[in-house]
Amino acid sequence: MTTVAVLGGGIGGLAASYYLCKSPQVTKVVVLESSSRFGGWLWSTRRSDGAVFEHGPRGIRPAGDVGRNTLNMVDDLGLGGEILPVSSSHVASKSRYVYVNQQLHRMPSGLSGLLRPVPPFSRPLLLSLAMEILVKKGEEEDESIHSFVSRRLGKELADIAVDSLCRGVFAGDSRKLSVRSCFPVLYDAEQRRGSLTLGMLLGSGPAPVVPPGPLAQRSIQESWAQWSLSRGLESLPESITEYLQQSGRVQLHREAAVQRISPSASGWKISLEDGVMSADHIISALPAKALSCILPPSSCRPLVQLLQHISTVTVAVVNLEYEGAVLPVAVMMGGAWFQEVFGAPEAATEEHLLARATEAVRRQLGVATAPSWSRVALQRDCIPQYHQGHRQGVESMRRFIGENRLPLALVGASYDGVSVNDVIFSGRTAAEEMLGAV
Ligand SMILES: Cc1cc2nc3c(=O)[nH]c(=O)nc-3n(C[C@H](O)[C@H](O)[C@H](O)COP(=O)(O)OP(=O)(O)OC[C@H]3O[C@@H](n4cnc5c(N)ncnc54)[C@H](O)[C@@H]3O)c2cc1C
Repeated sequence: MTTVAVLGGGIGGLAASYYLCKSPQVTKVVVLESSSRFGGWLWSTRRSDGAVFEHGPRGIRPAGDVGRNTLNMVDDLGLGGEILPVSSSHVASKSRYVYVNQQLHRMPSGLSGLLRPVPPFSRPLLLSLAMEILVKKGEEEDESIHSFVSRRLGKELADIAVDSLCRGVFAGDSRKLSVRSCFPVLYDAEQRRGSLTLGMLLGSGPAPVVPPGPLAQRSIQESWAQWSLSRGLESLPESITEYLQQSGRVQLHREAAVQRISPSASGWKISLEDGVMSADHIISALPAKALSCILPPSSCRPLVQLLQHISTVTVAVVNLEYEGAVLPVAVMMGGAWFQEVFGAPEAATEEHLLARATEAVRRQLGVATAPSWSRVALQRDCIPQYHQGHRQGVESMRRFIGENRLPLALVGASYDGVSVNDVIFSGRTAAEEMLGAV
């Protein structure tokens, strides 16, 4: 008889439960979610006229083990018919812009973009890549993304291309984010091949371990760059929840905030507002700070301190819809600069955020009319920041858990990658490791 309590019903907790309930070794899985809905940041508005607006993630990449793994899950859940792929040759994949010096610039693509200097860059990308081969390997155990790219490819690429990439993906500051934790592919390429260019040409990652199912095979044949779902990405947690309910072995509790967990002779005691429950194992899919608040503060002090060290940023997501042939746009603002630009999140008003987003669309995209529909969502503390040393911190947490024989696994965006794919894969890894130890 093994009971596993999964704390947090975001995509990480749901994914861990999905993999657990595939094993006959687990008798019961209890999912405890503090809010009134499952899915966490996967949150879509579906309007009655069919329009869909995302307030959290909007695109998932199909590539790599983690990408194939999610597509295999989507297949298994019967969601394949709802997939909305964007191929690499689609105009949306080829047309990427950066806003530099009050001007939009199309990022270089194709061979001609590599061979000649394309503004805002002053030299051909191919030259930077060729010269990168000659740069000697760094000696630091970890380094900021900005410093790593400046060293290997030049300051201009670090200042413009990579800085905007970090703002787009992590809502974070490339001068603080860790290359090893945020872009392990780049870090590994330097470690194994001595160069990013050689890493790209010769391959530098580990051999793939997740075989592609039919949907993942389709993504390869059709060369998808990313995908979404026709009724919004929230369909994914909705489908997993339905699957878990039908399994008969998973209890799903909403509005069940975990207040404290304490190790007991047979596992854990879990305190909720309206009672106490026991579990043999805990999979925590809570944000790191939330976990740090419910652990015993004295016996788990080193773990609590490490968890509290992981900071997060707040992002305002403003969905705008315009009449006519203008695309719906989502403006994401703030991140590592939220406080600097808007002040304290609790003081930011929807009117002010909407006005700033509309102004950015007017100035940067030249859309002069007022939006016909809008929605402002202030996503507080929504993206963990993997600053330099993050990986070592997570290793220390897992070492503490192992040395103290705590039946506890850490899942979710705070540890091993912030993308939806990474989070789902972390749920799978924790479930498999726990099943291996049962
Ligand atoms: C605006 C935005 C845009 C993004 N865009 C993309 C994208 O395009 N592509 C992509 O791949 N990724 C994207 N991401 C990242 C990705 O969506 C997240 O990293 C991922 O959804 C995090 O999932 P999680 O389960 O780890 O955490 P969460 O979604 O935070 O889930 C944790 C859950 O724990 C619950 N909880 C907290 N405290 C307690 C408690 N004490 N007891 C019980 N439950 C508790 C919370 O209510 C929550 O439901 C984006 C994220 C954001 C915010």
